[in-house]
Amino acid sequence: MERLQSLGATGADERGTAEIWKALVELWRPGTPDGYYRGRRLVIDLNNAEGRAQMLVLANLLAARVAEHVAESTFMALGAAGLLDRDRLLAGSAADRERALEILRDTYRALTDKERKIEAIYANQARLANEFDGDLHNVYLAAAGDDEKLLKMLHGFAHLRQRAFWLAREMKVSGVWPDLGTRVTAYYDVHIRRSLVRLGFSRLGETDDWLASRHECQKIVDNLFGGDVIPFYLHGSRLCFHNDRTICESSCPVKQRCSFWREYPNDDPDLGVD
Ligand code: SF4
Repeated sequence: MERLQSLGATGADERGTAEIWKALVELWRPGTPDGYYRGRRLVIDLNNAEGRAQMLVLANLLAARVAEHVAESTFMALGAAGLLDRDRLLAGSAADRERALEILRDTYRALTDKERKIEAIYANQARLANEFDGDLHNVYLAAAGDDEKLLKMLHGFAHLRQRAFWLAREMKVSGVWPDLGTRVTAYYDVHIRRSLVRLGFSRLGETDDWLASRHECQKIVDNLFGGDVIPFYLHGSRLCFHNDRTICESSCPVKQRCSFWREYPNDDPDLGVD
């Protein structure tokens, strides 16, 4: 990041902004990423081709107006039925498609056509087999450090669109695609908004209109943090998400600047001071 600027009306001055950024980057700097995706209720091992194929299915399920936990429940139901086995995903038999459609009809409460979603899932697995030897990692290798090329290839998968940025972000966070830049990993979600709002960078609240919030979050991260969403994403999803002062107290280095932390009366003079 070349230079931090003050955001004025948000209340975070230049010094405070720099301190928050430094603390978050230090907290979330990748140590030795273990190659796992950690969602709300599931873990996917991205160290192997099967896990990466499954990650593409999860990206497909999330690519809709759907709650994260609903997409995860559907994913787990598909897994329990054996439908996420790599060979079966790649083969995409009529019987498996039919069973997958039944599961989506039962569990996938999303504003999208379930049959088209199933078609997209299996079309993507077929493209993975035909063009990338069945391994999503070959997309990354084929891009050879060119993020725009990677994005173009990811956008070639059905239904990904914005979720291509999510996929890239998660692959980077896991450490499996370590060399991605900020643009291709810039997927904005409520976790980023949560940490930005609580730390005083956003004029909008956590329940305000999402499109307006997303636009504002993007402006803030682009202007103040070099377009790097990952520290705010990890902070918002791993810590703030819990709304638990015990976690804030033990793990958050910037709590003294947080509106959530300050909202509560503080009897202990040591709390909130790092
Ligand atoms: S104090 Fe808690 S809610 Fe506030 S920024 Fe830190 S972790 Fe998030």
